[in-house]
Amino acid sequence: MIKLLVAGTVAYDSIETPFGKADNVLGGSALHFTNAASFFTDVGMVATVGSDFDMEGISFLKDRSVDMSGIEVDHGKTFRWEGRYGYDLNQAITLKTELNVIETFKPKVPEDYRNAEFLFLANIDPDLQLHVIEQVGKPVALVLDTMNFWIENKYDALMKVISRVDMLVINEAELREITKEHNLLKGARKLIDLGPVCIVVKRGEYGVFMMNRDEVFLAPAYPLEDVFDPTGAGDTFAGGFMGYLANVGEATSETVKQAIIMGTVMASFNVEDFSINRIKRLTMPEIKQRYHALKGCMQFGDISL
Ligand code: AMP
Repeated sequence: MIKLLVAGTVAYDSIETPFGKADNVLGGSALHFTNAASFFTDVGMVATVGSDFDMEGISFLKDRSVDMSGIEVDHGKTFRWEGRYGYDLNQAITLKTELNVIETFKPKVPEDYRNAEFLFLANIDPDLQLHVIEQVGKPVALVLDTMNFWIENKYDALMKVISRVDMLVINEAELREITKEHNLLKGARKLIDLGPVCIVVKRGEYGVFMMNRDEVFLAPAYPLEDVFDPTGAGDTFAGGFMGYLANVGEATSETVKQAIIMGTVMASFNVEDFSINRIKRLTMPEIKQRYHALKGCMQFGDISL
């Protein structure tokens, strides 16, 4: 039985950054997520691809205990996303979103995924996220991501999903857009009032802000000299975050903070190359080394006054 279930997109992306271009490369919220999470736990994916999708391209995930029986191959074209980044790599400009097979997708959660203890609703149509929630038991942690496309096109459905999840992992701009609050504290509190117990806000190169019912936690991003492509950094963060939680088996205030650090470490690798390439060739010793380097950036002695 798998520990962690993700539902989201598997995509072909075309990306342009100030440092290069990549056309029709592997992407999608569920794929970036799984690529990272599979370092820590067994993952089952629920997604759809079109008949044009080359499954060979993701077969390496099987060696990392990923169950792909929940990926449905539908008649039509795979979901495609085109985006561009300027020198502000925190802000993706969507040039084109082609839903293709997602438009008619009705996610079916395989029988043996239904009791997964950890469930991540990656960025996809909120109506589909609701459909997934209805098919599963009560996980230890049910966590949600979304993006501006769905906030603008499916606001009511999104609000329904928010009221049913335990945690949100969203970026700063999304928090502001959903809550119409500029201030992170006020925005996160508004979301907590809707039901979730914990809000994790991704702030790109500025790190992560977390708020739960009792406290606030801040984590910096790992300082990198060369960032090539931020696409999927958020999903990779979520993969490290949820993968770690599933690995330790509980979502307490303490493990959530550790998971934020693991998510930060994984996201820092993702941006070093296009598409899923850097995480595909990543190793556990590299992950551990960067964790220690990041921890080193946060140490300081007590101030004496
Ligand atoms: P991130 O940079 O972590 O926010 O995620 C980027 C990934 O999300 C890309 O690989 C895209 O294929 C995927 N994506 C882009 N737009 C959407 C959308 N509207 N719904 C679901 N996934 C999307």
